[in-house]
Amino acid sequence: MRLRRDNWHTAGQRRARDLGALDTSSWDREWAMRLFQVPAALVGDVWRVAVHDDDGRCHGFVLTCPVVSCDQGVHAWHHGSKCPARRSRSNACALGDRAGMDSCWTWTGSAEAGTLTATPSLHSPLADGGCGFHGFLTNGVLA
Ligand SMILES: [Zn+2]
Ligand SMILES: [Zn+2]
Repeated sequence: MRLRRDNWHTAGQRRARDLGALDTSSWDREWAMRLFQVPAALVGDVWRVAVHDDDGRCHGFVLTCPVVSCDQGVHAWHHGSKCPARRSRSNACALGDRAGMDSCWTWTGSAEAGTLTATPSLHSPLADGGCGFHGFLTNGVLA
């Protein structure tokens, strides 16, 4: 795993564009050039993510999506689409606050050491505008 601190949203879009999964031809030129300000997200890249504002707590992680046709390139895993905490920081997480991490997933291991593991599985449902990926992050490997 490679822990990054740059703009994950842009890195993901650049990956999707590079893989032909995101058509930016109709984008405003300046907006499209923004993608070249960061390196494309690569499989194994990981970012820490806050949900609403950065309140100094870890809410989960952004991971590069292994699906080559994914038009987002990366997905943020903090609270699931049905979790009230996703809508507002004042809502409690549906799955509770575990070990100082406000996240729907339990995160073990470490991003720095490349051993990050998420429980339960990670799913980007098509019905929620995702790419359909469903897999596990185990010891730093998303598959
Ligand atoms: Zn995806
Ligand atoms: Zn939650």
